[in-house]
Amino acid sequence: MKKQDLEEIKAILLEQKQELMDTAKATLEGDLGIAVDDLPDEMDLASAEYDHAMNFRLRGREKTLIKKIDLALERMDVGEYGLCEECGEEITAKRLKARPVTTLCIRCKQEQERREKEYT
Ligand SMILES: [Zn+2]
Repeated sequence: MKKQDLEEIKAILLEQKQELMDTAKATLEGDLGIAVDDLPDEMDLASAEYDHAMNFRLRGREKTLIKKIDLALERMDVGEYGLCEECGEEITAKRLKARPVTTLCIRCKQEQERREKEYT
């Protein structure tokens, strides 16, 4: 993959992650009735609790997606990003831009969906 494509996809991933974190934070702030960024320094002690609460908020779909984004970023770091987990072929940049967390090329994905259909 071209370096430029990689950079572009990385920006998409980081943006998606930020959005997810913001959503979680907004939910948390709504519950607490305060803006988390406005907490005074002496509230640092509560940061462990805050992390816990944040984690608690990040459940289900968001959590899974953030995990996938982190994994994609990790794979980028080690130079394995964009390679299909199934067959090792390069996934097209076009597909990755549309769905940056994907780990399967279009062929393997279709194959997987076909198998899933058969077993359900
Ligand atoms: Zn594949």
